[in-house]
Amino acid sequence: MKNRALFLIKFVYMNSIIENNTVYYYSLIIWIIFGLIIFCILIKFNKIPTYGRYFPKRGILLNNRLGWILMEIPTLILMPYFTFNGFNYPNTVIICFLSIYMAHYMNRTLIFPFRIKSKKKKLPIHIVISAALFNLCNTFFIGYYFGNIAEHEITWLQTPYFISGLIIFLIGMFINIKSDTILINLRKNNNDDYKIPFGGLFRYISCPNYFGEILEWLGFAILTWSLSTLTFMLWTCFNLIPRAIRHHNWYKHRFNNYPDERRAIFPKIL
Ligand code: NDP
Repeated sequence: MKNRALFLIKFVYMNSIIENNTVYYYSLIIWIIFGLIIFCILIKFNKIPTYGRYFPKRGILLNNRLGWILMEIPTLILMPYFTFNGFNYPNTVIICFLSIYMAHYMNRTLIFPFRIKSKKKKLPIHIVISAALFNLCNTFFIGYYFGNIAEHEITWLQTPYFISGLIIFLIGMFINIKSDTILINLRKNNNDDYKIPFGGLFRYISCPNYFGEILEWLGFAILTWSLSTLTFMLWTCFNLIPRAIRHHNWYKHRFNNYPDERRAIFPKIL
């Protein structure tokens, strides 16, 4: 009896995945709703120390660089795995999507951790584990889409979706890396102090690195034109908007001379 029930569940699940991906799309909707709930909690309880500089350094702590690599590595390994192990044979367009995505994660996993200069900074292990799990879920959703659902002809690369999305992605990546560089250079003297950042988009907002990251994934959602990448863009907003508001309030509280005209993350808006 139990075996029959299990067989039935497996049969229904496999059919809905293989035939029209119903389970996949329902899972994506649930994932978006979950992200929205997290966003509301983070906005409402913006003083909860959930990340970075605010987090009490207790429990098991990992070296900052190692922590970053462990958080991001699931994406670097599993995205090609999911893409190449689906039912579809990846064509040129999918390889392009994958390369664009991997360019971001090569920087985030293998370059960025070796550029940051916080000497004493440690990352709590549960933050590392939860971020790695989050990356795992997103990687699965996008990788499954690339490997099983996406059906783009080569002419897709000439469409306004692909071209405009790629331009937005590249502008976002430039802003993200340039802003991260400005922050990293504030630690030239190798101390762990915080200073007011200037230059680039810091003129208008406190967290241009987050703004650039959101632009990147907006561009990626446009150039791939799919619910899975749109979901990832939404999750990036759910994560980074509350974090930017927190950073912004922290700067205003910490520095009396903090520029008044700066917003948190969107120039002139928020
Ligand atoms: P932060 O801006 O908090 O910090 C980036 C680096 O700059 C850290 O090494 C930090 O040091 C240092 N820093 C920040 N502000 C100052 C300052 N005022 N003075 C001196 N040094 C400073 O970024 P995150 O660590 O939150 O994120 C890093 C990157 O990862 C960003 O590009 C972000 O977009 C991306 N990211 C993406 C997410 C997503 O959901 N896609 C989620 C989280 C991050 P310290 O560590 O000591 O504070």
